[in-house]
Amino acid sequence: MKVGSRLSAVVLAALLLLSSCRTAGPQTAAIFAMDTVMDFTVYGGAQTLADAEARVRELETLFSVTSEESELSALNRSGGGTVSAETAALIPAALALCERTGGALDITVYPVVRAWGFTAGEHRVPSGEELAALSAAVDYRGVSVKGNAVTLAQGAEIDLGGVAKGYTADRLTEQLRAAGVESALLNLGGNVQAIGKKPNGDDWRVAIRDPQSESNVAVLAVSNRAVVTSGGYERFFERDGVTYHHIIDPATGCPAKSGLLSVTVVAESGLLADALSTALYVMGLDRAAEHWRAYRDFEAVFVDENGTIFLTEGLQSRFTPVSRGAAVEVIRL
Ligand code: AMP
Ligand code: MG
Repeated sequence: MKVGSRLSAVVLAALLLLSSCRTAGPQTAAIFAMDTVMDFTVYGGAQTLADAEARVRELETLFSVTSEESELSALNRSGGGTVSAETAALIPAALALCERTGGALDITVYPVVRAWGFTAGEHRVPSGEELAALSAAVDYRGVSVKGNAVTLAQGAEIDLGGVAKGYTADRLTEQLRAAGVESALLNLGGNVQAIGKKPNGDDWRVAIRDPQSESNVAVLAVSNRAVVTSGGYERFFERDGVTYHHIIDPATGCPAKSGLLSVTVVAESGLLADALSTALYVMGLDRAAEHWRAYRDFEAVFVDENGTIFLTEGLQSRFTPVSRGAAVEVIRL
């Protein structure tokens, strides 16, 4: 009896110690959603991780083109319809970015993406005629949104894969901040959102992958920023010695061949960073640099086919190459 109560006192003390450690340390979660592995590290706030996961699942149900049951799939099947407030917010925001990038980003690219088999994972190389026919219907200007009513031009289908994770990261950031979280790092499969700084006051450190190996090329020190990378190495297949990747040039219907292997965009908005990383990859280095000079609302890091790293000048103090011998060039105004 005595031994028992002493034992339970020890167990209770250990449990208390554990739970106090838990409040001091971060809450972490790894989930599979939106076709990718997501890692969340959140300091402070109660119940926040479960709420964040629920939010991701809710948005996935709306935006996924791989799920027949999603709101987007239903919209694509019927060529239009009335959508949720969330979808009715994302589509016009994405269309504005299609316009801003001169169609390098085009959310109506879905029939082409599907023809290459990137959606179902059944990869194939479509014929030139097939691509020409499908590309003819790719034009974001054929999507009209009035309130919650969306209409698609004949043959057009929407793919939000280039922007949905960025939009989701923005919504999670809002939600976590509203719950009182001041420090968190959300990684939505290459879309990183740094909320505040680390609890010790340092910037968050976000690595940029080497597109040609498993290692990293550089580290960025950031706070309150989205850091989003698009790269051909993220999703690709090989046929007869040729590599085909998932970022499509809407002008040709083929995987973009711009001389770049990856583009990382740093911006306040996750949606902007996500949209631009995809679009700048299609544009190539020169057009991308011009876009940066024209807008100045983001910074970027590019890795080209020679392994040279280019960074916009606003990132100079935040950028550390992993290898000292790396070729690094600064893009200036
Ligand atoms: P991301 O990983 O953000 O660069 O997005 C790539 C995904 O967006 C692809 O898997 C396609 O689903 C879709 N996509 C490919 N090319 C484009 C494009 N030019 N514009 C919009 N979405 C695209
Ligand atoms: Mg993107």
